[in-house]
Amino acid sequence: MLAEIITIGDELLTGNTVDSNSAFIAKSLTERGYWVRRITTVGDDVEEISSAIREALSRRPNVLVISGGLGPTHDDVTMLAVANALGKKLKLCEECLKAIEDFYKRLHEKGLIDDPTLNEARKKMAYLPEGSLPLRNTEGAAPGAYIEFEGTKIFILPGMPREMKAMLQNEVLPRLGSSKFIQKKFLAEITDESKLAPILNEAIRKFNIKIHSSPKGFGKFIGIILFAESEEKINEAVKFMEEKGIKFREGW
Ligand code: ATP
Repeated sequence: MLAEIITIGDELLTGNTVDSNSAFIAKSLTERGYWVRRITTVGDDVEEISSAIREALSRRPNVLVISGGLGPTHDDVTMLAVANALGKKLKLCEECLKAIEDFYKRLHEKGLIDDPTLNEARKKMAYLPEGSLPLRNTEGAAPGAYIEFEGTKIFILPGMPREMKAMLQNEVLPRLGSSKFIQKKFLAEITDESKLAPILNEAIRKFNIKIHSSPKGFGKFIGIILFAESEEKINEAVKFMEEKGIKFREGW
């Protein structure tokens, strides 16, 4: 199963914010058995975001996770960009409006904001692409959205890492089935990565597993991470590679 991630925000492109969201989402999807095939970052521009979405959808991933640009300010245009990319309109989500109203009331009661009224900027966050389901934001104001489009499950999440993580956990992962991927780290006792590569490739093909390797300096070891549906599959692959002459140590 294939997945793609799009992160949105000018601050990611200027380097002022490190895109930690895509790494977190990628790790979560990988653990669920998805191959993340591409991560794209675009700025706060409706056309750029729509075109990145259309491009991602043209590759027909099973899942597309989009993060960032759901807030009340003028540069938060992700919902509009998704709607445009899918040829849909934005539609007011009444339950979202109520949740946003309650959120600002709570902030006001705590003395964190002066004015709890639903102004236009706050109302804007309650507009989702038509046909989508709202995703609850337990940590902030802006709801996310879930919509299926031509076989791709699209999830639209906030950019604030705390909000994104909670929504991913509570609203996205439960919709992605229960399949789990195991990952195990090893040190391979071989100094030249180029000699290791053909053996790893053979194991990838034979066992339908995923392997990442990274040299650990010019020492005696190369770090390897194996991903598979079960521990047995990992053990079989390790045994196969040991028979080809690689010595493994568990852990890094
Ligand atoms: P909010 O409802 O919190 O306004 P939002 O979807 O509008 O959500 P953004 O305005 O895109 O979020 O970003 C809010 C904050 O989260 C910013 O401080 C931004 O730097 C940070 N942020 C956004 N995207 C990422 C990311 N990919 N990785 C890490 N931090 C991010």
